[in-house]
Amino acid sequence: MNVLITGGAGYIGSHCSRYFLEKGVDVTILDDLSEGHREAVKGGELVVGDCGDGALLDRLFSEKSYDAVVHFAAFTSVGESVAEPRKYFHNNVENMLTLLNAAVDHHIGYFVFSSSAAVFGEPVSLPIREDHVLDPINPYGETKMIGERMLADYERAYGLHSCSFRYFNAAGDSEDSSIGESHHPETHLIPLVIQAALGKRPPLTVFGTDYDTRDGSCIRDYVHVEDLASAHYLGLRYIMEHNVSEQFNLGSETGFTVLEIIRAFEKVTGIAVPHTLGARRAGDPAMLVAGNEKAKRLLGWEPAKSDLETILTDAYHWEMKRTY
Ligand code: UDP
Repeated sequence: MNVLITGGAGYIGSHCSRYFLEKGVDVTILDDLSEGHREAVKGGELVVGDCGDGALLDRLFSEKSYDAVVHFAAFTSVGESVAEPRKYFHNNVENMLTLLNAAVDHHIGYFVFSSSAAVFGEPVSLPIREDHVLDPINPYGETKMIGERMLADYERAYGLHSCSFRYFNAAGDSEDSSIGESHHPETHLIPLVIQAALGKRPPLTVFGTDYDTRDGSCIRDYVHVEDLASAHYLGLRYIMEHNVSEQFNLGSETGFTVLEIIRAFEKVTGIAVPHTLGARRAGDPAMLVAGNEKAKRLLGWEPAKSDLETILTDAYHWEMKRTY
């Protein structure tokens, strides 16, 4: 099976690419390396380029017959999307449209899409199941919702089957520490907790302690990046076998507060996490927890590594050994 993976040098994309390679898939990675890392590519062919480059896509799709596209390339920072929506609509919507058109023009039948829990906005029921209303509260979530809607229309009109995954909080790193999370600047909680503990940055600020949660800090559902990788493989197999399109929420169905993450890291490693209690961050819902029953039932997916101890241990080892 030949698969084009856009954004395959990024955090989730690199773990997924490696998983596909382990499964014997012929992988071509298309990544402009604006946020991805050459060192994160552990096999397959790397094409350095933009997934909004129609001429490049035409060339790639003419040179080899692809069975599917797995589309990770996107900007992912909520705060930045509020400040610079045009950057987000250009990359996440316009470039995805170019990619979809090239896929359809070249008769590629299957498309796997990185969506996000951000499509749901403020949850009205928990855990969040797939049929929860989509009501994003920031431009990032809007771009992902538009992506899902384009896919629905492209299936109706052109028969492109797709699988969209709404990730909750991707976390953890490869067990062997050869690939991992590396954002510049880093904004995600778990790497920031670890870097603060190791004295690599100033004390962590806990964003908000007056939420209506068990200790006042936000609750999130952390899912191991290697569990996300296995879901993509299972999802692609599923839509190819059944010729359907589906959406799945990917999380562990367990939520932890920010303060619980700090305490869990201290327990796992014995290293104190210097932190201060601060104000809320704009745009943060109090609680996000995924319902994952659909992915388990239809795909046979298990979030096998998404317990906090494994996530924090792998993330700690990555931080100690990281090469990029
Ligand atoms: N968070 C925090 N301090 C930080 C970074 C994040 O308290 O320096 C909190 C954030 O408010 C949220 C949770 O940690 O409740 C996870 O944030 P992250 O940015 O990792 O992911 P998000 O939930 O925004 O996708």
